[in-house]
Amino acid sequence: PVHSSTRSIELAEQYGARNYHPLPVVVMEASGVWVTDPEGNRYMDMLSAYSALNQGHRHPDIIAALKEQADKVTLTSRAFHNEALGVFYEKLASYTGKSRVLVMNTGAEAVESAIKAVRRWAYRVKGIPDDQAEIIVCDGNFHGRTITITSFSSSELYKDGFGPFTPGFKLVPYGDLKALKEAITPNTAALLIEPIQGEAGIVIPPHGYLSEAARLCRDNDVLLVADEIQTGFGRTGRRFACDWEGVVPDLYIMGKALGGGVIPISAVAGNDEVLGVFDPGSHGSTFGGNPLACAVASAALDVTVNESLAERSEAMGRYFAGRLEEMRNKSVVEIRARGLFIGMEMDGSARPYCEALMRMGLLCKETHEHTIRFAPPLIIERHEVDWALERIAQVLG
Ligand code: PLP
Repeated sequence: PVHSSTRSIELAEQYGARNYHPLPVVVMEASGVWVTDPEGNRYMDMLSAYSALNQGHRHPDIIAALKEQADKVTLTSRAFHNEALGVFYEKLASYTGKSRVLVMNTGAEAVESAIKAVRRWAYRVKGIPDDQAEIIVCDGNFHGRTITITSFSSSELYKDGFGPFTPGFKLVPYGDLKALKEAITPNTAALLIEPIQGEAGIVIPPHGYLSEAARLCRDNDVLLVADEIQTGFGRTGRRFACDWEGVVPDLYIMGKALGGGVIPISAVAGNDEVLGVFDPGSHGSTFGGNPLACAVASAALDVTVNESLAERSEAMGRYFAGRLEEMRNKSVVEIRARGLFIGMEMDGSARPYCEALMRMGLLCKETHEHTIRFAPPLIIERHEVDWALERIAQVLG
């Protein structure tokens, strides 16, 4: 029997750890950009599970790959080879232009893996004295929730009560080249950066920042590590957000939409000089590289390329953000957009706007308190964008 929305929410609140504050909507079914609750109410998904659903809910090719693989083998562990892993590696190497891929499950794990690669590279290749490697990160960053990643968050909310923390990280203001330059020392191993900060509220650095930061890194033998977990796979109107400035990082960190909204899978891609530092036994994951996830991710990559999701995101995002600019009122502080990665910053809490939009059938989630994030699946059609815009216009009054 299907539980009502009310009952589902009651159960979640009674038994769940209280680490989320969701909007009061229960999703029971989904297809494309649309989701339905147990009572049959339909909503448009404007969050895409924080950009994990770039290909839309239950894309038929991705679901077909899931079912086909599920009928063959789902888990082998890495004690043995599996036939889906190599195919996936080759596809992701080709998509990123890198020679090697390391596969994990969640975004945070991929970030942790990149940090391990950076540190080994620092000691074994760059020659930084043992345990002295520093990694530069940016104010407002969001790279996940493990203790090490939480250690270098600039948000007290994320850190409160979770110490002691991992040393070896240095915070600099985002978008500030001078501060970055001053932070680099002979012990600097890497700059770990989001090319656009998603959780901070779709914060786009000044044009030229990324390419100059890349140059500073190159000149100082510092690795550039791009966290493209939220911005990758077409979300910002390019394959990767780094492409907006022609920047090729030493490591790409990927997750979310790599799994096509179907299965958790994350990865780090880089060349031999850096990813080559891992040897057997130095890193791993029971589920990392499992055939089910690899088959799904291969299909998700095919959909991303074959359906030109980056190009669609750029065109549709331009239209969406342009129309938002036309309808903005004095409560709107700023609209920041790259492709279908759109933040509308309000002069107060964004939560009441998200609640009003939900009542009109549009599911959005505030990010960083003041910003409404519009990030629909990239397969969204023009008439569906118009449907959303009508409701946004009404809520803006
Ligand atoms: N890095 C970025 C830029 C993210 O946006 C996120 C998730 O929102 C993560 C890392 C963490 O990914 P996960 O939640 O899969 O661990």
